[in-house]
Amino acid sequence: MSRLLFQGVPGTTDVSEMLRTSADMERGREAANRRARSTDKLHEECGVVAIYGHPHAAREAYLSLYALQHRGQESAGIATADGHHLANIKGMGLVSEIFTDDVLAKLPGYMAIGHTRYSTTGDSALLNAQPIRVDSTKGLIAIAHNGNLVNLGNVRARLERAGAYFQTTSDSEIIVQLIAHSSAGSLVDAIADSLSQIEGAFSIVMMTRDRIFAARDPHGFRPLSMGRMKNPEGGDVVVFASESCAFDLLRAEFVRDILPGELVMVSEDGVTSRQYSSGTPQSSCIFEHVYFARPDSRIFGRWVQESRDQMGRQLARESGVPADVVVPVPDSGVTAALGYAEEARIPFRLGLIRNHYVGRTFIEPEQRVRDFGVRLKLNPVRNLLAGKRVILIDDSIIRGTTSRKIVRMVRGAGAKEVHLRISCPPTISPCFYGVDTPSKKELIAANNSIDEIRQFIEADSLAYLSLEGLLQCVRDETKVGYCTACYTGNYPTKWVDVEEILPAAAAV
Ligand code: SF4
Repeated sequence: MSRLLFQGVPGTTDVSEMLRTSADMERGREAANRRARSTDKLHEECGVVAIYGHPHAAREAYLSLYALQHRGQESAGIATADGHHLANIKGMGLVSEIFTDDVLAKLPGYMAIGHTRYSTTGDSALLNAQPIRVDSTKGLIAIAHNGNLVNLGNVRARLERAGAYFQTTSDSEIIVQLIAHSSAGSLVDAIADSLSQIEGAFSIVMMTRDRIFAARDPHGFRPLSMGRMKNPEGGDVVVFASESCAFDLLRAEFVRDILPGELVMVSEDGVTSRQYSSGTPQSSCIFEHVYFARPDSRIFGRWVQESRDQMGRQLARESGVPADVVVPVPDSGVTAALGYAEEARIPFRLGLIRNHYVGRTFIEPEQRVRDFGVRLKLNPVRNLLAGKRVILIDDSIIRGTTSRKIVRMVRGAGAKEVHLRISCPPTISPCFYGVDTPSKKELIAANNSIDEIRQFIEADSLAYLSLEGLLQCVRDETKVGYCTACYTGNYPTKWVDVEEILPAAAAV
């Protein structure tokens, strides 16, 4: 059973102080390091949800988090409130491992916020799992945050000089401390004031004893949507989630995206909204459409499935090559491969099968297990590949080591030719907005030409989708502006880590 942290839960003891010095932090750090070494994919960030007005808000939050599990598998938490109390339970592991029926029964209330986490800043430990619950001068506040703040050091140091005592090393707590130290009169003014002082990526949900807040940063980096459903006891339930696929599980209707720079409040008086910041050009994360978000979600005003299909089609138009079969690297390459195959009129075949049961358990393997690497996750279907000219479709090449193993695997299954096509441009710069990327020194495309990468991965040919092509695939009448910094090195904010964006010495 997962280790749990209880805060404000009737009949339990708060254990946060004990955990501050426990081995959890060290264990979490080790797990994160091992994971970073053992994988060659960019990592999901976090998922957030909020529920207002449901008699079983914790259970609805649980279902929503279940739908967002792909956004983070390291820890999860749910906080609930009933107008008087605010309780919080979080643990390390998957949503279904942490929130058994017994645990959910400890979280009464008609409001809930929830979080599933892949750590991008702060130690990877139970105490830094979210929601974070802080007893502030403005009362009890719980916060769940998706994204990454970039002017972190300055604000944290200023708050500490002003007497703030941080419970965690997570950047999300900075938002709560800013609220606590704000001189604004009302809570909603204090939140707006605090959000306008921080820079970076944040889609957040917050809860007090009797209100829910949802906000996006002025750039709109990460998605956050609002939905509605019927309360079984009458009236409407308002829900918020990182991705609309969470609404489907609740049978909630998608209402709209929260706007960049918007702060929404839900209370017994209904839903109110204010624009706490305006005039910043939107720069939503284009990689959400390429890889992170679920294809059955609608984010930034468009369906992810449609975007990926278009990416595959555009890739076929830009870099077609004679071949017998189009094969996706599952699962994330599947939709783009379908689009590619249709556009190129080449048969689509599931020539690689993914073992869906190699999940989080594989994150902390013993060395002898880890050495199986890609072979444990993917297996070739030999009769579909032998003697064929294969176009492999994937969504990214990060260090190149995994791509090389996959190319070797397909060739080892008898493929005559292996042509790798990537459904986005080369990743040349790290992300500072909530995506766990290696530094520039480790990004193969930052330090090598496309032909050098082709040689390294041992493919017969290699092509990426052009930046213009990618932008065409996500552009529509909504006129959303996108961040493309990991493909261009042009960051929409001024605060970036210079060390991280230095190229490898050999390439200077
Ligand atoms: Fe997304 Fe890349 Fe921008 Fe990060 S740098 S927000 S991954 S587009």
